[in-house]
Amino acid sequence: MGQFATGIIIAVLMAGGAGGAAVADEAPLLVLTGARVLDPACREFLEGQDVLIVGDRIRQVGPSGEIKAPDDVQRLDLTGLSLIPGLIDAHSHLLLHPYDEASWNDQVLKESLELRTVRAVAAMQATLEAGFTTLRDLGTEGAGYADVALRDAVTEGIVPGPRVFASTRALVATGCYGPMGFDPRWDVPKGAQVADGVDGLRRAVREQIAAGVDWIKVYADYRRQPGGPTTPTYSQEELNAIVDEARSAGLPVAAHATIDEAIRRCVEAGVSSIEHGSYASEEVLRLMRDKGVVLCPTLAAAEAIARYQGRTPEGPEHPRITAAKAMFQRALDSGVTIACGSDVGVFAHGDNAREIELMVAYGMTPADALKAATVTAAHLLGRANDLGRIADGCLADVVAVRGNPLEDISVLRSPVLVVKNGALIVDRR
Ligand SMILES: [Zn+2]
Repeated sequence: MGQFATGIIIAVLMAGGAGGAAVADEAPLLVLTGARVLDPACREFLEGQDVLIVGDRIRQVGPSGEIKAPDDVQRLDLTGLSLIPGLIDAHSHLLLHPYDEASWNDQVLKESLELRTVRAVAAMQATLEAGFTTLRDLGTEGAGYADVALRDAVTEGIVPGPRVFASTRALVATGCYGPMGFDPRWDVPKGAQVADGVDGLRRAVREQIAAGVDWIKVYADYRRQPGGPTTPTYSQEELNAIVDEARSAGLPVAAHATIDEAIRRCVEAGVSSIEHGSYASEEVLRLMRDKGVVLCPTLAAAEAIARYQGRTPEGPEHPRITAAKAMFQRALDSGVTIACGSDVGVFAHGDNAREIELMVAYGMTPADALKAATVTAAHLLGRANDLGRIADGCLADVVAVRGNPLEDISVLRSPVLVVKNGALIVDRR
C-alpha cells in the first residue's frame, strides 16, 4: 500500500553556518543507505552508495559511510536494491481512462467534468505509486483546464501525485478533431480548443497561457472524417504563429504529428517535441535529429489500441504495432533524441512503465530506455538541472526496485520504494 507520507519529515539540529555554530534548521533529513545507485549518465550502477536528502533536494551521493549526518536522522536501508531517478512520462492524459472502459467519444461527451477530475486524482496517485514522479500531460481532451487544477493541487500538497506539466485544452483546426461524424447541423463540442488562422491561434495561445499552461499542444495532423486519411491540419504560417506566440511567453510547443508533411512543418516552426511520429520517414527523423526536436513514440498506446480491437499477442500482429515497430527502428537508426512518452490514459494509469518495456522490446538498450524516461525527458521539460538524475542539487525524486533494470527492464513495474520531493510515498521493503 502506498501512502502520502509527510510523517517521516523531521526537524533536526544541524551544525552549520559560518564558524560552525549550531543553528536550527527546519529542513528534514533522510538518508538512503546501501543501495546501488544509477549514475547520472545512466550507464551503470554504483554499488554501496548512500544518498543524503535535505528537505526536497538530494545533497550528497557517495560510498556508504562517507556521508556525515546526525545519528538520529531517519535512515532507510536499501541494501540489495537498485535506486533510479523518479521516472518521467512526457506524454500522459490524466483526464482520460482506458478506452475499453469507456470510448473516447463517451468520455468527452458524457462524463461530467467533476467525475473526470476526481478520476484523475486517483490516476495521479496510481502514477506516483508506480514510480512516475513527473508527467507532461498533453491535453485534457475536453476537460478544459482541469490539469492546471490537478497540478496546483499536487504542488499545494492537497492530493498526492506526480509533478504535472500542464497543456490544458490543446489546439485543433476546424473540422480536424473529434468527436466527429455528426450531421453538420449539430455543433458538437470538440475534445480540444478549435482555433484557426494566425490571429485566431495567437489569441487561443494567449488564452491558454493566461489559464496557466506550461506547454502548448497542437494537433498538426488528423483525419477529417471517421476512418478518413490523416492529412496536415495547420499551414506553415499558422504553426509558426503558435510557436512564436508561445515563445513570447517563454513556453515550448509539443505537436501531435504522424505523417511527414505535418512533422516537417512542425520542425520548421520550431516545436520542441513530436508526439507519435508513427509514419515518420528516415529523412524527416534525421531533420528532427539535426534540429534537436525530441520524439515521443507512444508505443504503449499503439499496443493498447490493438488490444481493444481484439488482437492478442498470440494472433496476427495488428498493423499499428507493425508500423510502431518499424517507425521505432527507423528512429533508432536516425539518431533522433527519444523521450519516454506513453500516451497513458489510453491505457491504465500506473502502467506507464509499459512504454519503457516496449522501447526495449523494439530494440533500444535498457540503459537508453532508462535515459529516455529520466535524463532525456528532464531535458525536454527544460529541467535537466534538477530532474532525472540522482545527483547533488537535484530534486529528491528516487525509486528503488529489486534486481537490475539494465539487465531486466521489467523490474521497473514493481517499485519497492518511492520518494518524491524528499517525502516517502511508498515503502514496500
Ligand atoms: Zn496523447
